[in-house]
Amino acid sequence: MQEHHVVVIGGGFAGLQLVNGLKGAPVRITLIDRRNHHLFQPLLYQVATTLLSTSEIAWPIRSLYRDRPEVTTLLAEVTGIDRQAKTVLLKGGESIGYDTLVLATGATHAYFGHDEWEPVAPGLKTLEDATTIRRRVLLAFEQAEMETDPAVREALLTFVIVGAGPTGVELAGIISELARVTLPPEFRHIDTRTTKVILVEAGPRVLSSFAEDLSAYAQKTLEKLGVEVRLGHAVTACTAEGVTMGDTFVPCRTIVWAAGVQASPAATWLGAPADRAGRVVVDPALRAPGEEDIFVAGDTAMVIWESGKPVPGIAPAAKQQGAYVAKVIRARLAGRPAPAPFRYRHQGSLATIGKSAAIIDFGWLKLRGWLAWWIWGIAHIYFLIGTRSRLAVALSWVWIYMSRQHSARLITQKETMREE
Ligand SMILES: Cc1cc2nc3c(=O)[nH]c(=O)nc-3n(C[C@H](O)[C@H](O)[C@H](O)COP(=O)(O)OP(=O)(O)OC[C@H]3O[C@@H](n4cnc5c(N)ncnc54)[C@H](O)[C@@H]3O)c2cc1C
Repeated sequence: MQEHHVVVIGGGFAGLQLVNGLKGAPVRITLIDRRNHHLFQPLLYQVATTLLSTSEIAWPIRSLYRDRPEVTTLLAEVTGIDRQAKTVLLKGGESIGYDTLVLATGATHAYFGHDEWEPVAPGLKTLEDATTIRRRVLLAFEQAEMETDPAVREALLTFVIVGAGPTGVELAGIISELARVTLPPEFRHIDTRTTKVILVEAGPRVLSSFAEDLSAYAQKTLEKLGVEVRLGHAVTACTAEGVTMGDTFVPCRTIVWAAGVQASPAATWLGAPADRAGRVVVDPALRAPGEEDIFVAGDTAMVIWESGKPVPGIAPAAKQQGAYVAKVIRARLAGRPAPAPFRYRHQGSLATIGKSAAIIDFGWLKLRGWLAWWIWGIAHIYFLIGTRSRLAVALSWVWIYMSRQHSARLITQKETMREE
């Protein structure tokens, strides 16, 4: 008899946890991803802000399963699903049959119907996004050093971050520290300490998913780092000249988009109901509606938490869902009763502000300041894959603290936007 074929789309947190959870099960697994690497997105902002290099936070997916002969890794982009034929359709025309399918294709940033802003206001989701942002930030300082027109120089030294969730706060804090601490001795014609970093948020506070006192602390810490926080300001236009918020125009050459979430098109592939962010509304066993053999996990699934809120789009939630689906598949293959419905266990929320402060909300315990930063740092090192990455990241951080230098300040790839 042919072994049961599980096809997993997406080698992110949910997909990998699922494949790990199926170790030893009587299955053959095909893991498809359009990128050749698994990415530790929580530290992506550190690549964008020159603290870490790309290889410290990403790993070739193929290498993770070198000792699992039943796992086949394919570098391919999925474009659709034929539920009747039980096949996954790939860009290029190929198709792959499945017995069980798991969609774990994640989410990306959303421009609230203004996709035309993306070229001037890149979001942060992939390594390419991170190196694009890094290049733009570093080029802005380089161009300001050569610029003779004071208005253009000021625009070059103005950085606008849209969205004050964890990513926006993290980016703003580090860019401000870069300008105020690391760069000043290296430039001769500009004072990089005059750099403006503006964090724009449509809502009433930064880090709105945290308790109010923690979000107030985060705002105060950002302001101490030199970040200008503008709350209650919705962005109405982004262009190569600057950002408009209602009646206010801020001339700037570097905009980073850290607002909005849009799930992958998994719901469209399945013709399944989706929420406003495009996430597939799954049943309590994380199955697509009406589908016995199709599961959806991670950021691309919408599942209700006990409190009635949707499970948050964070890495621990994606991992728990991946592990749960593995359990369901194992039980099914062994002829055992299905496990109890998926139940999300929230372990806490963490965010950093600059290089020495963080906030942590475990529910039962709230922490802020340097102690929170240490816990944040240790947790993130623990969750990296492999000893080499853990040592490399720990060493980079120690070096940055001792030297006040950022170790990955490289301008790479061609910058087209500014070369016209
Ligand atoms: C900048 C940033 C910072 C974050 N910080 C934190 C944090 O501090 N803490 C935290 O808990 N969470 C954080 N998150 C959220 C966390 O990273 C996500 O919740 C988590 O990655 C979701 O896992 P996933 O497996 O659902 O999707 P992902 O990890 O995004 O994986 C999806 C995979 O699917 C692949 N894929 C997508 N479409 C296709 C296709 N058509 N064909 C083939 N492959 C495809 C992608 O290449 C990707 O590898 C952050 C996210 C971002 C972007």
